[in-house]
Amino acid sequence: MKIVMKFGGVSVADGDKMRRVGTIVRKFHRDNHKLIIVTSAMQSVTDSLTDMARRASKGEKKAVHDFIDAIHSKHKKAAESAIMAEQILGRTMAVVDSRCDELKNILLGIAHIGELTPRSRDYVLGYGEKLSAPVLQGVIEDLGMKSKALTGGEAGIVTDDRFGDATPLMNVTAHQARQSLDHLLDEGIVPVISGFIASTQEGVQTTLGRGGSDHTASIIGAAVKADEVWVWKDVEGLMTANPRIVKSARMIDTISFAEAMELAHFGAEVIHPKALECAAKYQLPFRIKSLKDPESAGTIIVNEVKVKAGDVVKAITNIADVSLITVSGASMVGTPRLAAKVLQILTDEDVDVLMISQSSSEESITLAIPKTSGHKAQNALELSLLGSKQVREVTIEDGLSIVAVVGAGMRGTPGVAARVFTTMARNSINIRAIAQGSSELNISFIVNKADAKKAVEALHSDFKLGE
Ligand code: ASP
Ligand code: MG
Repeated sequence: MKIVMKFGGVSVADGDKMRRVGTIVRKFHRDNHKLIIVTSAMQSVTDSLTDMARRASKGEKKAVHDFIDAIHSKHKKAAESAIMAEQILGRTMAVVDSRCDELKNILLGIAHIGELTPRSRDYVLGYGEKLSAPVLQGVIEDLGMKSKALTGGEAGIVTDDRFGDATPLMNVTAHQARQSLDHLLDEGIVPVISGFIASTQEGVQTTLGRGGSDHTASIIGAAVKADEVWVWKDVEGLMTANPRIVKSARMIDTISFAEAMELAHFGAEVIHPKALECAAKYQLPFRIKSLKDPESAGTIIVNEVKVKAGDVVKAITNIADVSLITVSGASMVGTPRLAAKVLQILTDEDVDVLMISQSSSEESITLAIPKTSGHKAQNALELSLLGSKQVREVTIEDGLSIVAVVGAGMRGTPGVAARVFTTMARNSINIRAIAQGSSELNISFIVNKADAKKAVEALHSDFKLGE
């Protein structure tokens, strides 16, 4: 099989973990699979680059030197503990040294000019993956395989020039990726691709947005027509509920992209939605594999899953901390444009709207958003709307959670909502707002945060998901 394997920041967080990644690669390489590895930056490195880029633009040159020392020693330490052969270590460190030098010069340049453009910011942010990939290459070589580190651009990923959130141009990418990767695979070389970063057609480095290396894996998988993409995680796979909340939570064997996207949206932070979207579009089976149990099949996400009779619900998920924002005013009646405006204001502020419902009297619109963006959202809405005569007030309430029931079998099965709300009533859980996606793949509702655990447990047991 041709498999793209993606390892996230946590799985390459230090030398020991990189070594574990290397042994997993060796295991499947020995089974004669053609492997392409996609790696993230070591854990927290991208965050620190983000912070450093900002500080550099404020002219903090001293901080640049300290930062380079720290990031250099982090990668050196990982390499030294994970690579035994001196020659391989030497070669690896030569790359790490020269990349750290480049990064230092760029950051000092930014500090000198006192300006950080989206383009230079992307350039800086990419160094996390530009450093982790060569180290992982060294580890893989040290374990007896041939390997080659490539940046996303070198691997062939071409994007538009929306720095910070670039979109791949799939036709060119497919062509170039095959050119750069096929011969490596034929020669038994394991390519290690820096996730998250890509390149414009002119060769300028871009990034795919935070958390984007999952997306890199799907892009590469689609481009080289891989049989599967495997994303390695510290969890067993996708679960019927958060195992920290529900003891009897079970791993889900097979799930559809549509369902997995609902889960991703409702708090099961497992895979980047863009990665799922891309894999779904190219009918690329996407597997979540467990670092702790590499033999286990994990969860496979595919385009269509046959719904078994009686199997209406797949998983119960929740978002622990949400705020409800209510925009109200008697004269909102019949003003659909207001709803659009509210959403636009929140989009401009980068606020993720999790749920929206409008009372049928049309006197108010209620939106659920992550608690962390609550006050930003309220301020922005007040600033833009209170002047208009339509809106009387914008209120906010915290201490709430979203619970979502997800499953393709709910589509066209009457009575699921009744069952959900009967279960809530039996447990005396008060429901504050309800929404059902028109896809009918989920029913989501808002409860007091204190009731969320009970709600998830009750639904998990009522729908017999632990069995
Ligand atoms: N390193 C990037 C980030 O932290 C991309 C990724 O980890 O997926 O956002
Ligand atoms: Mg990540």
